Amino acid sequence: MRRFGGLAAAAMIFLLAGCGMFPGEKRAPWRGEAEAQCLARKQVKPSEFMQPMKAINGPGACGMDSPFRVTAILNGTVTLKSRAVLACPMIAALEQWVAESVQPAARQYYGVAVAEIHFGSYSCRGMNNRAGGRRSEHSYGNAADFMGMTLADGRKLSVVKGWRGSPADQEFLRTIFVGACGQFSTVLAPGSDVYHYNHLHMDLARHGRGRTICKPVLKWTPMSPPPFEPGPGMVAQTGAANITPYDRGASPSAAESDVEAAHDHEAAGQGAAGENDAGDYGGGNQSLNQGAAGRGGQAASINDLLR
Ligand SMILES: [Zn+2]
Repeated sequence: MRRFGGLAAAAMIFLLAGCGMFPGEKRAPWRGEAEAQCLARKQVKPSEFMQPMKAINGPGACGMDSPFRVTAILNGTVTLKSRAVLACPMIAALEQWVAESVQPAARQYYGVAVAEIHFGSYSCRGMNNRAGGRRSEHSYGNAADFMGMTLADGRKLSVVKGWRGSPADQEFLRTIFVGACGQFSTVLAPGSDVYHYNHLHMDLARHGRGRTICKPVLKWTPMSPPPFEPGPGMVAQTGAANITPYDRGASPSAAESDVEAAHDHEAAGQGAAGENDAGDYGGGNQSLNQGAAGRGGQAASINDLLR
């Protein structure tokens, strides 16, 4: 009996350590302080769309003091395809990004507002789903993955198809990517590494000395005004046949050179994933587009999301 108790305790510790990886680890104090400050400033107010939850503590350092269950942002004007669990600072930053970058860009490139966004949110795990690696900001409700969205007229856009999709999709996604880099401390888009081919990762990590990470480096300047006719004539995502290489005519290789390969992978241990030059990326993306053509395949689950 005593022996069984010992085994049970060992099993329990093993289970707790499963995602926790580092038994006894504690959340950095700045995380709780940032949440408290955000709440004190009323940057997020509880509502039917933002429901306060009990604190999440563990496994390991995972969790947050004051999580919110979010079903819509910006006073309910933009719904979330799947409800998100996030801490106050991330919700406030996301709302600002959607209001100041995403909505204006949607109106500019598609002629209508965004009605629904698909975000990945809280997930207790290592960065890029690696056990034993640095913990992902998703583990603290301090990160979100933008997978795609639905416009007010029903058209859909996914990052996996749109990043190298129609000119409007490419311009739109790059515009909101650049906007995100002004809002978050980490932003990773397709081309940054092999893990981020199908979403924009955004977080509020504190990298030290105010450093920010924004990858890939784009050789791109926004078109203004857009040379596109917004509205029904703009076919967004109806199938793989619409995916055309985007070349503004600047150079024959423009479509391949707009993403500068990010070879300086972070010390997070992404190196093993292999190099990721534009050529490789383009090839991989095509097959991914085909895979995503059947809607449900747009990211098997939130747990498959990375970083
Ligand atoms: Zn992420």
